[in-house]
This record gives sequence, C-alpha cells and structure tokens, in this order.
Amino acid sequence: MFEGFLHSSIISRIIGNGLLEVETVDIRDYALDKHRHVDDTPYGGGPGMLMKVDVLHRALEDHKREDSYVLLTSPRQRPLQQKDLQRFSLLKDLIIVCGHYEGIDQRFENYIDERVSIGDYILTGGEMASMVLIDGIARLLEEGISAESLNEESYNDGLLEYPQYTRPPLYDGRYVPEVLLNGNHAQIRRFNLKMSLKETLLHRPELLDNRKLTKEEEELLQELKTEEEN
Ligand code: SAH
Repeated sequence: MFEGFLHSSIISRIIGNGLLEVETVDIRDYALDKHRHVDDTPYGGGPGMLMKVDVLHRALEDHKREDSYVLLTSPRQRPLQQKDLQRFSLLKDLIIVCGHYEGIDQRFENYIDERVSIGDYILTGGEMASMVLIDGIARLLEEGISAESLNEESYNDGLLEYPQYTRPPLYDGRYVPEVLLNGNHAQIRRFNLKMSLKETLLHRPELLDNRKLTKEEEELLQELKTEEEN
C-alpha cells in the first residue's frame, strides 16, 4: 500500500531532499508461531478479530527510540486538525501504529502516547490514516512550500481559503472576478479576505464562533450578510 504513496511526486521529493524518512514495519515479522498469527478472537465474543498485544508490543519495542512519540490510528478520538499536524511535524521520531481487523487488544494502549483519528467514519485499517498523517506532516517539512503559501492556507488562521482562479479569464460563460485582474493589491487583499469569510460562513460557520474577528473582518462579514439579504 505504501509503495505508490512514497514514490508519488511531492512525497518522494521531500524524502529525496532528506527532510523525511519513512520506514514501514511488517507486524507479522513479530509473530512467534509458525503461521505468523497477528490476530485472535475477542474475549467475551463479538464479530471479527483483534490484533494481539504481544505482537504489537514486540514490534514497537524493536523500533522505539528514546525520543519516539507513538501514535495509534483509531476512530475513537476527535478528528485530526491542522494544529495536530503542526505539533507532530516538530517531533524527531514518530511511530504510527496501524490497527486492522476489528481493532486491537485494549492493553496495547498502555504503550502509546496518543490516538489519532482522521475523521468520524470507520476504515478497514490504519494504513490510509497513517498516509494522511505522513502527507500532512511532510508538506510542513517541505521548504519548497513557501512560508507565504502555508500562511494563506485554509485553517492556518481559522478561516477557509478564498477561491482562486487561473487563465483563461472567461470560461464557459464565467469570468474571473474583475478585481483580481486590476493589480490593486490592497483591493485584492480585501476581496480575498471577504471571500474567505464567505466560504467559512457558508461551509464551516462554527469556525467563526471560535475566532476573534478584526474590525475589518466584522465589516466584511456585515457586507456579506447585507448582500445575502438583498
Ligand atoms: N471496531 C473499531 C474500529 C476498527 S477499524 C471501533 O469501532 O473502534 C480497524 C482499524 O482501522 C482501527 O484499529 C484503526 O487503526 C483504523 N481506523 C479505522 N477508522 C479510522 C479513522 N477514522 N481514523 C484513524 N484510523 C482508523
């Protein structure tokens, strides 16, 4: 599963530049029996199989360093946020444990630092969740992504990013907003801020509740509300 992902353009460039190293570990290598069992039926009954605590623990101990921080992919957590990725991107060594099957023996949680969920839905395994983590962290490590483009992104300042346009100026009857073509940077900045507020108001209004608005933002929000009424 990881081959294609780790060789995809941006991730492989970040790895090639030495900003990130990824090692995948096959849990099966830590099973002791002949058939390399990593799962077993749950005590008390119920559907599916659970990953065995001893196998996971051996795999972890074999890779854990003094400075490792251990994440367990799990839907039993609030969904991941950009600020979590920022926090993780500062760590030297991150171990991401992927669950599988019905889940894992609860006792393994004594050896982890934090659970990570990528959203309120259930996947078949933690591999995709770990790729989401690696992808999100990798781009924060990438120097090629300029500080400016990182700063302007959705979630960085608590608003969704404004819509953007590229050539041609007219497509299928739709024009690029006039103000973006006129080269007036003050006007463009104000327009983009207003569109950010509009996106947020329409698609994630609860983000505005948790955010202290500047005077300019209050004005723009008022403009949007008046326009909506008309
Ligand atoms: N029965 C478990 C779900 C098991 S899903 C429960 O209801 O809690 C199997 C594995 O996939 C999990 O152990 C976890 O590692 C991974 N997984 C599933 N959904 C996920 C999500 N939203 N975020 C992160 N990991 C998830």
